[in-house]
Amino acid sequence: MSSTTRRDVLKSLGTAGVIGTSAAVAGCATVNVHVEARATPFHVPATTIPIVGSAQTFPVRRIYCIGRNYAAHAREMGSDPTREPPFFFQKPTDAIQFVPIGKTVDHPYPPLTKNYHYEIELVAALHSGGRDISVADALKHVYGYALGLDMTRRDLQRGMGDQKKPWEIGKSFDKSAPIGPIHRVADVGHFTEGSIQLLVNGVVKQSADLKQMIWSVAEQISKLSEAFELMPGDIIYSGTPENVGPVVRGDVMLGKLSKLPDISVKVV
Ligand code: MN
Repeated sequence: MSSTTRRDVLKSLGTAGVIGTSAAVAGCATVNVHVEARATPFHVPATTIPIVGSAQTFPVRRIYCIGRNYAAHAREMGSDPTREPPFFFQKPTDAIQFVPIGKTVDHPYPPLTKNYHYEIELVAALHSGGRDISVADALKHVYGYALGLDMTRRDLQRGMGDQKKPWEIGKSFDKSAPIGPIHRVADVGHFTEGSIQLLVNGVVKQSADLKQMIWSVAEQISKLSEAFELMPGDIIYSGTPENVGPVVRGDVMLGKLSKLPDISVKVV
């Protein structure tokens, strides 16, 4: 749904105590519309990501991440990439840490871990959504792309996995999703191939081509939409190539993706 349409929905509902009401709009998916009927006792900031070449910012609704989407990375994580369907997890929206172009951002080394890993990833940002989206239609829902890091407390992720408990603590912590600005499809097109790299202190650690992804962005959107109704503002971390590894305080990570400017993050 466009932002204009959404505004119209909100306007038509007015401000009369409508909380968590479902509203269906012709031609659009059903959305849960939350209209604040009363003042709130404190302010919770919304998460947005700047858009290159625009005065607008991209409002983030959910962060989805795909696991083990490059064969060599699946193997290094101990699984068989040939038989495994895609699987997904989420990070909280406020895990976003924005990384402006041309600057190195300080990123705090998180608590509890002794094995803090980088994962460089292409991120797709949706301006529309739906359920059971076909692969052929999927890319129509993409507003733009960004370069992001799926930072991971690997020791905690593995520890929980070994105990058959949720990974949350390894993946979904504060500031675990550094991300550059969003580049509109209108400006940069879609990403089905092209080099993706992560350097630490100037040394290449991860280097692959997007065409090595097991599940393309279009296939990820299609598969995700079988499990969740996708919505405007959803972003999808599309998985990392092989050779993930640790960083320590003082390390500078440089992310590179063909057609896009680099992102730079210093662990402090
Ligand atoms: Mn990842």
